[in-house]
Amino acid sequence: MLVRPRVKPEHSGYRAKDGTVRLGSVVYGIGVEIEDPDGWVWTLVDAMDGTRTVPELAELVCGAHPQVSVADAAGAVAALYEAGHLEDADAPAPDLTAREQERYSRGVPLLRWLDRTPRRSAWQMQEDLRRSRVLLVGLGGTGGYAAQALVASGVGHLRCVDPDTVGLSNLNRQPLYRERDIGRSKAEAAEEDLRALNSDVEVTCERRLVEGPGDVADLLGSGAEPYDLLLMCADEPPEVRRWTNQACLESGTRWVDGGYRGPVTTAGVYVPGTGGCWECVRTSEINRRDLGLAPGQDPAVASPRRPWNPVTAVTAGMSGLLVAHAAITLLTGAPPLEPGVMFGINLGALDDPVLLRSPRQPDCPACGTGAGPAVDAGAIARQRPDDRTTG
Ligand SMILES: [Zn+2]
Repeated sequence: MLVRPRVKPEHSGYRAKDGTVRLGSVVYGIGVEIEDPDGWVWTLVDAMDGTRTVPELAELVCGAHPQVSVADAAGAVAALYEAGHLEDADAPAPDLTAREQERYSRGVPLLRWLDRTPRRSAWQMQEDLRRSRVLLVGLGGTGGYAAQALVASGVGHLRCVDPDTVGLSNLNRQPLYRERDIGRSKAEAAEEDLRALNSDVEVTCERRLVEGPGDVADLLGSGAEPYDLLLMCADEPPEVRRWTNQACLESGTRWVDGGYRGPVTTAGVYVPGTGGCWECVRTSEINRRDLGLAPGQDPAVASPRRPWNPVTAVTAGMSGLLVAHAAITLLTGAPPLEPGVMFGINLGALDDPVLLRSPRQPDCPACGTGAGPAVDAGAIARQRPDDRTTG
């Protein structure tokens, strides 16, 4: 429990002209307004600077506002802690080196701002990141930005796989490569770049193509320890996400995918047993989107694949950074996220955020009750592959 409660600096409050106490720095989704007609909540919030214990705070509030009981004051501290607005000035020092504390001294306050899980110190989230083991498939645009962001953020272990070599046309949006890398294996160049970015992170990259669901399962099972998370940032072969969904359902591995289709950049978050799987989310999107197709018309006419890949550093970067955000969210809990969701940004309509959520579908061929632990590969194969790209 809290010893010396302190309002998180990023949630610092003020008293508005209508008398409410406002916490969370006026950010939608985090900020709150608390009714305070008698003014005692503000007395409490203002006194929570980490110098007083809970009994001392209660005494101070009850002294200034005799109508307030000690239980009310202590209850308000507990409620503000449960809502994620407080930390403990007496929390133990983080189990991180001085160098790590300096390196992550700007990132931890943002996690603290986003976080609404009651915890005594935000540094616990950085410790969670350092303990985490992440497998990333595909080191193109999406995967490159995701890998860079995770290595910069201090994940403990990152293993990446990609079969390709660097080409000149990759350089408009793939951040891990330089002109000198043209012709080189992406895995080799990426490993060099990522290790140079943060030598505290254990990074390994290997040249490898995923050719079936067995390959995803093999990657998941071939680490020294189980992976906390898989990031699917490849778009070839076209069935690769379906295979990943299957392998992750079977092994119980949480996973994130990301990509773009023209100006629409997205990431999806899937946790076996909680919310819809990739197949559930995808099916619900197909049902929602009325393409107006005539009977027998191939859905591919509505969104044909091109031999070239329309993408800039902006769209690749956005999809990769959405993947990194989803990964950090799953690894730290900040902010809380309900899985079975695909979210993103449409650069062609910034006023219309992309958000697609699906509960687990009972008839889903991958995770539905009929599917059981054994996945109906035939039913899955009859469905269309994903049409997003990531390179
Ligand atoms: Zn499903």
